[in-house]
Amino acid sequence: MAFEGLTGKLQAALKKLTGKGKLSEKDVKEAMREVRLALLEADVNFVVVKDLVKKITERAVGQEIMQSLTPGQQVIKIVNEELTALMGGTQSKVNMAPNPPTVIMMVGLQGSGKTTTAGKLAGYFKKQGKNPLLVACDIYRPAAIKQLQVVGQKVGVPVFERGQKDPVQIASEALEFAKKEQRDIVIIDTAGRLHINEELMEELSRLKSQVKPHEILLVADAMTGQDAVNVAKSFDERLGLDGVILTKLDGDTRGGAALSIKAVTGKPIKFIGTGEKLEDLEPFHPDRMASRILGMGDILTLIEKAQASIDEKKAQELERKLREQQFTLEDFLDQLQQLKKMGSLSDIIGMLPGVDVQKLSAAGALNEKELVKAEAIIQSMTPEERRNPSIINASRKRRIAMGSGTTIQDVNRLLKSFEQFRKMMKQVSSIEKAVKRGRFRF
Ligand code: GDP
Repeated sequence: MAFEGLTGKLQAALKKLTGKGKLSEKDVKEAMREVRLALLEADVNFVVVKDLVKKITERAVGQEIMQSLTPGQQVIKIVNEELTALMGGTQSKVNMAPNPPTVIMMVGLQGSGKTTTAGKLAGYFKKQGKNPLLVACDIYRPAAIKQLQVVGQKVGVPVFERGQKDPVQIASEALEFAKKEQRDIVIIDTAGRLHINEELMEELSRLKSQVKPHEILLVADAMTGQDAVNVAKSFDERLGLDGVILTKLDGDTRGGAALSIKAVTGKPIKFIGTGEKLEDLEPFHPDRMASRILGMGDILTLIEKAQASIDEKKAQELERKLREQQFTLEDFLDQLQQLKKMGSLSDIIGMLPGVDVQKLSAAGALNEKELVKAEAIIQSMTPEERRNPSIINASRKRRIAMGSGTTIQDVNRLLKSFEQFRKMMKQVSSIEKAVKRGRFRF
């Protein structure tokens, strides 16, 4: 799970403040020392940490906060706002050409996930009703063209390739082709190398002057921490970047690159890669990421994910039911079935506020096999029982356990989890409201 190390440490540092009625300057400074350490351990750039902690401290020891009734929560609010600002404040979108096609050049080092991400991005735009074209200009890595064709086929986007021809020539032909075929977004997969070198930069510069892209996106591997930041700096100096796609955030427990890139290079993160599957690409929202880092959950992304994998009408219905607390076991079953499409269980659960994924995993609660069991149990219930679980007495439980090939304890466990889930959803909607009002509670 992304950021779990950082989240735990920040929460521990800030929790000490939330228990207090009044805060002294010393309390704040002590907490900030821990925040600083947590960020440095997360491999956030040293200068960035220094600036950030200074800003937070200045605001936190201000009159207003010290005298407020909930000073601890005010400090958390400040940390949240400063983390958001650090990552760019608001969402940065891809520059779209006034006259299509929009040309996007994907650049990056080998292994960063460039080819996969080109496919993910094409799939993302296609889902939005666009008509993308992928272009294979990584002619050096022998498998790259084939790989792009495979991902293109999976997301249903055609791939323009001309074998090992000069990449500049390929890109020019691809643009002609895109215009003729009314493709409105052209995504060019360029050559990568293991390290930045002159030859690579020369080629990318030539490509840039020929195709005049509307957007140059660097694909960088989050797991390489400060190396990713340095790569972004070099590419930006040599080529000029419009933004960054940070991949492999699912495996990044520290978060140093995500928190430093914008501050160090001035270039925003536009998307994040959160897994190997082609749907594992999310637009980057600094505010949501800050909430996730602070362990306050990311309800909005969760709802968007649900909307992407469930059909629109169902998602709206679900949202309404959750809000109005009319969620039944029937919906729960439906959700379990949809859940499988949304990604790994721990990733999804991790987006809920206040849920400790590590604890849940250790208790075996995130075992995918349990999902299959839960599905069987609910399927053995009558529609009436699904709508109104309170009627499930001992003899009904026995019948359900028999029917689903499980035990009465399994049935009890499921009913208990459902009850907890319902309670959690109740909290979610109140937290959401609190977040909107700018008040948080751990
Ligand atoms: P390229 O050399 O930069 O074109 O990199 P590839 O697209 O071949 O990706 C390298 C590896 O990283 C592949 O195994 C991908 O499946 C994997 N990968 C790419 N993006 C992500 C991501 O967001 N999360 C995870 N876990 N793996 C990723």
